[in-house]
Amino acid sequence: MNTFEDHGVIVTGAASGIGRATALKFAALGARVLIADLDPVGAKAVVEEIAAAGGNSLAVVGDLSEQAVVDEVVERAVGAFGRLDVLVNNAGIMDRMSALGETGDAEWERVLRINLTAPFLLTRAALPYMLAAKRGSIVFTASEASLKGSAAGAAYTAAKHGVVGLVKSLAVMYRGQGIRANAIAPGPTATNIQVEAGPDAQGPFVIGPLIGATIGRRGSAEEQAEAIVFLASDASSFVNGAVLPVDDAWAAV
Ligand code: NAD
Repeated sequence: MNTFEDHGVIVTGAASGIGRATALKFAALGARVLIADLDPVGAKAVVEEIAAAGGNSLAVVGDLSEQAVVDEVVERAVGAFGRLDVLVNNAGIMDRMSALGETGDAEWERVLRINLTAPFLLTRAALPYMLAAKRGSIVFTASEASLKGSAAGAAYTAAKHGVVGLVKSLAVMYRGQGIRANAIAPGPTATNIQVEAGPDAQGPFVIGPLIGATIGRRGSAEEQAEAIVFLASDASSFVNGAVLPVDDAWAAV
């Protein structure tokens, strides 16, 4: 059902965690995958892993918050694959769990730039190719922090709520033109994401007990990848503008 034979797929943040599992899954289903990530060592390892399994991928290494890197990612994908069927905006970083009053400019700007502006830039660069083909599925990795105020600090929560806004706007604005936009909202997932809580008296103190009291088990990157691939595939052809919690009922608590 979920075959992606010869499809062109971009996965950001694919050197690690959810992005890595997603790139491996798409490649196993026949897609040609562009791995976009900051981390050259991790990106190379994923390309080699895909090649060893008989799949096809290439890596572009760079900071996706820079327009030049975004342009290179889309141009290399279209150049190498001749088509762009799927964009997975997955790369992201955590904040320091800071409450708004204790969020510094640098934390705010970095988290917003990587978690919200980079997906905006990538989607804007990819859209012309998808619109010309009248076909494209864009999947975002949102977060539990897209749905509630008790899963992260102010910057991450605002950025991930913003991602939901992008998904809904895209879905409505391009409905009927072959484009779909959806997101997963992962609960706690075993990856390499770093949480470095700052010297903040408010944020971690308030949020910590709420998280502890409401989360279920920790999921795997592969469980998140399964949901991303479903949303990217024609199996979800009537799903557009949706945010799917993948979280063992955390959002339901
Ligand atoms: P991860 O750290 O294992 O992987 C993230 C990848 O993104 C890394 O390879 C990193 O190098 C890359 N990256 C970060 N900033 C980048 C940039 N500016 N340019 C290019 N690449 C960049 O973490 P993960 O948990 O797999 O995170 C993937 C997504 O899942 C993120 O958007 C994160 O917010 C989201 N998420 C994770 C969890 C969780 O519990 N792990 C929960 C909710 C949402």
